[in-house]
Amino acid sequence: MGENVTVLITEQEIKKRIAVIAAQISKDYAGEDVCLVCLLKGAVIFMCDLARALDLPSVEFDFMDVSSYSGTTSTGIIKINKDLSDSVEGKHVILVEDIVDTGLTISKVIEFLTHQQNPKSIKICTLLDKPARRDVNRFNIDYAGFVIPDEFVVGYGLDYEQRYRNLPYIGVLNFS
Ligand code: 5GP
Repeated sequence: MGENVTVLITEQEIKKRIAVIAAQISKDYAGEDVCLVCLLKGAVIFMCDLARALDLPSVEFDFMDVSSYSGTTSTGIIKINKDLSDSVEGKHVILVEDIVDTGLTISKVIEFLTHQQNPKSIKICTLLDKPARRDVNRFNIDYAGFVIPDEFVVGYGLDYEQRYRNLPYIGVLNFS
């Protein structure tokens, strides 16, 4: 069985959109320090490009790796494979995510950070928003790169079985 990828969002479009989001974030947090919390592994490339476009006095990085299981309950649970390296207590946190699909992962991460870490604020910045399959709506997406249809996408950090993360664009994965 083969696979192929059709381009959905080009490298240029991603670059342009990140400049717009970064300008908005720089305006919203003007004069403030922020901590970007990257959700591994899919958001790594997005966070690197976003961070370099921010104009803020101090931009810290931290990383979390979580897996979500919908299981039998509607709320689901997440497993923390890698927690933050440092406390974000009293800090402005921006959670950087590759894609919000059902919303389970991001909602659980917010719950976890809010209860365990007491940050000054938490906002969500996702490269992609796939609203068609949204299950959990207990959060607002503060910054979104692109709203996409209900397709399985790869590239620019997103994988299929750990492959395709290095594509400079975002594409739909087709199976033939
Ligand atoms: P959620 O908890 O919002 O359903 O799922 C979020 C996670 O599911 C993302 O961080 C990502 O790892 C994975 N995911 C959801 N949709 C896609 C997709 O279209 N492509 C890829 N590569 N991963 C996806």
